[in-house]
Amino acid sequence: QKRNPHECEFHQAVKEILESLIPALAKHPEYMDNGILERIVEPERMITFRVPWVDDQGKTRVNRGFRVQFNSAIGPYKGGLRFHPSVNASIIKFLGFEQIFKNSLTGQPIGGGKGGSDFDPKGKSDREIMRFTQSFMTELSKYIGPDIDVPAGDIGVGAREIGFMFGQYKRLKGAYEAGVLTGKGLSYGGSLARKEATGYGAVYFVEEMLKDRGLSFKGSTVVISGSGNVAIYAIEKATQLGAKVVACSDSNGYIYDKNGINLSTVKRLKEVERKRIKEYVTEHPHAEYYEGCLGIWSIPCDIALPCATQNEIDESSAQTLVKNGVKAIGEGANMPSTLEAINVFLKNNILFAPAKAANAGGVSTSALEMSQNSMRLSWTFEEVDAQLYKIMTNIYRNSVAAAEEYGHPGNLVVGANIAGFIKLADAMMAQGVI
Ligand code: NDP
Repeated sequence: QKRNPHECEFHQAVKEILESLIPALAKHPEYMDNGILERIVEPERMITFRVPWVDDQGKTRVNRGFRVQFNSAIGPYKGGLRFHPSVNASIIKFLGFEQIFKNSLTGQPIGGGKGGSDFDPKGKSDREIMRFTQSFMTELSKYIGPDIDVPAGDIGVGAREIGFMFGQYKRLKGAYEAGVLTGKGLSYGGSLARKEATGYGAVYFVEEMLKDRGLSFKGSTVVISGSGNVAIYAIEKATQLGAKVVACSDSNGYIYDKNGINLSTVKRLKEVERKRIKEYVTEHPHAEYYEGCLGIWSIPCDIALPCATQNEIDESSAQTLVKNGVKAIGEGANMPSTLEAINVFLKNNILFAPAKAANAGGVSTSALEMSQNSMRLSWTFEEVDAQLYKIMTNIYRNSVAAAEEYGHPGNLVVGANIAGFIKLADAMMAQGVI
């Protein structure tokens, strides 16, 4: 905190993880002796760069680009790129730090990284997006590669942005390195089911957790925040499993549809027309729209899946959810619950699926995309989806087992953090002090 006093989100993520590692450190003093904690919180490399581009009016604009290469003990750095005005070094470091444990937990050979820019894609034309992403990639391309660092999408970075960045990388390198980015379009090396993977994976994880208490998505009322990539496919899978999803949101407000959200409307508004979620009520007048994001948590539900952004559930929203009878929380977004909110859930014995475990389906499927690119093969949707399901249930079982082994049965925050940490710490120990 003394060295980087302004990095609040990063400190929050470090605090959450380090506190939960105490039982593991007590059992493995060798990690402390070898400076694992001091090394693990320090990124191997943090790159910051200027991204100049020209807007449609001919005006030169400058944004800031970031890539943190946090830890490569297990494999090449892997993690998404976020384009959002709130992006700064703290946000990128918190996301990169979370990513190293998440990637370890997946059981796949991927290290952790993250990147992005404070560029705001909202309201920009396709040409502006192309010019910005080309400029961004011109600099980023110096630091990435299929065996070095493999970025993907995150908030504000979807198939369109990945496509432009892939094209620019190929042009700069003069080589077709399909494995340099994941989340690519299906016609040029993308994997079936990658688009769906984070949302589907979160629902698979939560369904496993519910099963252990004799519960299920079937017949449940669900609230899902966000209406982006993760939210849309969480809505889809939860609905397929028999739940009624009654609310979703964007950064302006939320909609409540007591009959259950019409997903094809949301998909068209958000994926094709890039409109605001409030447009939903013009097509479905019985639904209601409310300005502001926090209010979504006052809607009574059995299961809440925060799938928008960090710190979107604070202590008082958590208390409201508990008061209204919520049974389970599944974090689709990264760090959507504040530390105080997590404590409210745990104290009230609410089933709680932490992001690091619950949203690992996206990066897991990205690793499957890398495998397909290496083999120059494309697997079917069913094959990838079946592997995703298996990975999510394994992550759940491993987290449950670690929580039990280290004296916190049922606490998946402790379980996921320790399970991810042990594998990483062992790999770092084996590779010496580097
Ligand atoms: P998208 O950009 O596709 O969607 C983000 C959604 O969240 C949009 O509805 C957006 O609204 C809303 N949102 C963004 N910022 C805010 C904010 N500050 N306040 C309220 N709402 C906000 O992103 P993704 O769905 O890909 O990502 C969502 C979350 O999931 C992020 O935390 C991301 O890190 C995490 N995640 C994503 C993975 C993936 O595979 N995509 C993998 C693992 C985690 P608006 O349109 O108004 O901006």
